[in-house]
Amino acid sequence: MSQNMRKRSLVTGGAGFLGSHLCSRLLQEGHDVLCIDNFFTGTKDNILHLMDNPHFELMRHDVTFPLYVEVDEIYNLACPASPVHYQHDPVQTTKTSVHGAINMLGLAKRIKGRILQASTSEIYGDPQMHPQHESYWGYVNPIGVRSCYDEGKRCAETLFFDYHRQHGLNIKVARIFNTYGPRMHPNDGRVVSNFIVQALKGNPITIYGNGDQTRSFCYVDDIIEGFIRFMDSSDELTGPVNLGNPGEFTIKALAERILALTGSHSRLIYTSLPSDDPTRRRPDITLAEEKLGWTPKISLDKGLERTIAYFDTLLGNADYSVTTST
Ligand code: NAD
Ligand code: UDP
Repeated sequence: MSQNMRKRSLVTGGAGFLGSHLCSRLLQEGHDVLCIDNFFTGTKDNILHLMDNPHFELMRHDVTFPLYVEVDEIYNLACPASPVHYQHDPVQTTKTSVHGAINMLGLAKRIKGRILQASTSEIYGDPQMHPQHESYWGYVNPIGVRSCYDEGKRCAETLFFDYHRQHGLNIKVARIFNTYGPRMHPNDGRVVSNFIVQALKGNPITIYGNGDQTRSFCYVDDIIEGFIRFMDSSDELTGPVNLGNPGEFTIKALAERILALTGSHSRLIYTSLPSDDPTRRRPDITLAEEKLGWTPKISLDKGLERTIAYFDTLLGNADYSVTTST
């Protein structure tokens, strides 16, 4: 711990959607925050409001290269999360997850600090078990277009547990389910931001497939609360721990909620389903409830209202487009 006794937290991918919220929250908790990012999908806009804070530091860095800094704990979030962006340069996506994990685990080993991994529900692939419990090993295509992300994250989990077993590292592996909220990039390409931007602009809502596939959507503040509780939990709790909102909605139902909440008259259009798109997804969060006393608090409607308000202001200031799957 530094001499002034402020905990020094490193957030990789700190200029991204989740990372920027985490940096804000850690500063509120009285930490010194070192944010590192290569700005592949993150932007300085997400952290502009933190730049004048003397306890916040920004470093341009790519996690596929080693990093030598002095911190007390590491939140490893660096990795593009939207299918459109992680499939843009799939080799770099795998490198980010795997080399990034090796570099950050090496750093954690040297500083003897805790390290939390932002893992994902994609570990479960197109799940045959529903809802998904942490004990489920998943059903994942190792050679498909999503594999760079899925298998990269799976290998990262393997590395975390091997560093734990081999070097006694204090690890925390969080499996995050679809999370949304302000500061998603307007052309991020994920479903909530796409539908909101399309609805606000009066453009067609692009439903991939027939829209019967399901997802469980968690508001960002709930996930950040889960991260903090997990990082501060006892050494024995390594995870994996599912973090997500168990409310499950079809993609078509999500589109209809967004149309209702924006008052938009955009029409729904149906395009082809991307390959290996999971059919359904819902977290079993019993473990997080029992061990972290954590449960999501923000309903889908409340979270969507806040996110719509954010995009409404953003689109008023500039003209953005959305990125869709091809
Ligand atoms: P995001 O794309 O907004 O943020 C990722 C950040 O990582 C960006 O700022 C990007 O520039 C940075 N980055 C990418 N590659 C990097 C590299 N090689 N070196 C340094 N920085 C790099 O995505 P997000 O939604 O904020 O996701 C954050 C983390 O949470 C990711 O690891 C993602 O896999 C995980 N996750 C997110 C969700 C979700 O629904 N948001 C769900 C499951 C897992
Ligand atoms: N989706 C959609 N239209 C879009 C973007 C996504 O219908 O404009 C669908 C996508 O096919 C998937 C779901 O919404 O079934 C969630 O997609 P997202 O990219 O947000 O995340 P995923 O959970 O697939 O990683």
